[in-house]
Amino acid sequence: MGKKTAIIAEHHNGVLSPVTYELLTLAKRIQEIEAGDICFFILGADTKKPAQTLSTRTGLPVHAVCIPGLAQYNGALYKKALSVLFTQTPFDYILAPHSSSGMDYAPALSMAFGGSCITSVEDVVKTDGGLCFIRYPVWRQLSAKLMADTYPLVLTLQPGALKAFSPEEKTQGPNQVYSQGPIERSVLDITDHSMVYAGTKASPSEGSDLARADVIVSGGRGIREAQNYKYIEMLARLFPRSATGGSRPICDYKWIPYGKQVGITGATVSPKLYIACGISGAPQHVEGMKGAGFIVAVNTDPDAPVFQIADVCIVEDLMEFIPFFIETFKKKRGKEDERNDLGESFLA
Ligand SMILES: Cc1cc2nc3c(=O)[nH]c(=O)nc-3n(C[C@H](O)[C@H](O)[C@H](O)COP(=O)(O)OP(=O)(O)OC[C@H]3O[C@@H](n4cnc5c(N)ncnc54)[C@H](O)[C@@H]3O)c2cc1C
Repeated sequence: MGKKTAIIAEHHNGVLSPVTYELLTLAKRIQEIEAGDICFFILGADTKKPAQTLSTRTGLPVHAVCIPGLAQYNGALYKKALSVLFTQTPFDYILAPHSSSGMDYAPALSMAFGGSCITSVEDVVKTDGGLCFIRYPVWRQLSAKLMADTYPLVLTLQPGALKAFSPEEKTQGPNQVYSQGPIERSVLDITDHSMVYAGTKASPSEGSDLARADVIVSGGRGIREAQNYKYIEMLARLFPRSATGGSRPICDYKWIPYGKQVGITGATVSPKLYIACGISGAPQHVEGMKGAGFIVAVNTDPDAPVFQIADVCIVEDLMEFIPFFIETFKKKRGKEDERNDLGESFLA
């Protein structure tokens, strides 16, 4: 009998998160190495619509579990419900997103079954010893391959690490009539008052300049210290309709406000031009800016992952490159106020 994989779908108010389809990509990679079945579990007070979407888009079985008190994510209820469900039907692999909720319930779930938990996974490979899951600790300076010795194995997948499964890749292959996956609906009447939903706070980036800008210049940890963000601002000033952004660490360091953070836990942007300076290109950042029309990256490391998605790759120290670029531009144009010239000509 093959290995069984359960995917815990993530949704907010009935709208599925993109990571749910990325989890399916991971499940299929596992399935290519170890044949087996895949199905979805979706939990909530009302799962009718997202369950229908999942079954139609993927053709896979969906267990839609209605939990009356679960209108919003509640860690205590999730942990209780999943323990009940996976006791009824055991699985070898349980896949969850590495989101604030997945990070919360996944380790508890593996503990409940005496299994293993590998968090923040970005891919899977086959080795002589079995499946190895890849993650990148220490700001992507290292990669680690991890194996489990006890099962079930609960995995959390970094959002943006894998390409999302698209409906065109449905299991039956091209040129075939697809059927919907079966939906099994059930009601789980459980309660737990140890956690209560306190409300949702809008992201500070909502309504910020990032959403409207044609050009975004972003800085990362490569700027080394807060005062060097001036280089990012200098470069942005060359362009009309521009805004400055940044990676999460420099927001965490309080070098720039969180309203400027680009990425899965910040703003998702799609300007005509995105210039990433001193940003390594972690999936959590890339996920927020990959919709840009044209991407330029400035980085001292020629192997920086950001270069894999950049249209123009500049291997330079940003503190030298940006002033040199601005000076060269000024000389070439021979004008004091270069702002509109460069920007408009690029954006034209
Ligand atoms: C749940 C979760 C959510 C996350 N959400 C986000 C998010 O929304 N947005 C986000 O950005 N991150 C997010 N992260 C963090 C993310 O994983 C990365 O750690 C982060 O994006 C790395 O930021 P960075 O590229 O600025 O830093 P680093 O990875 O440290 O990269 C710095 C880069 O600068 C280069 N560099 C150094 N000096 C120079 C120089 N003088 N000139 C040019 N280049 C130089 C280096 O070669 C390196 O590539 C999240 C992480 C988790 C776990």
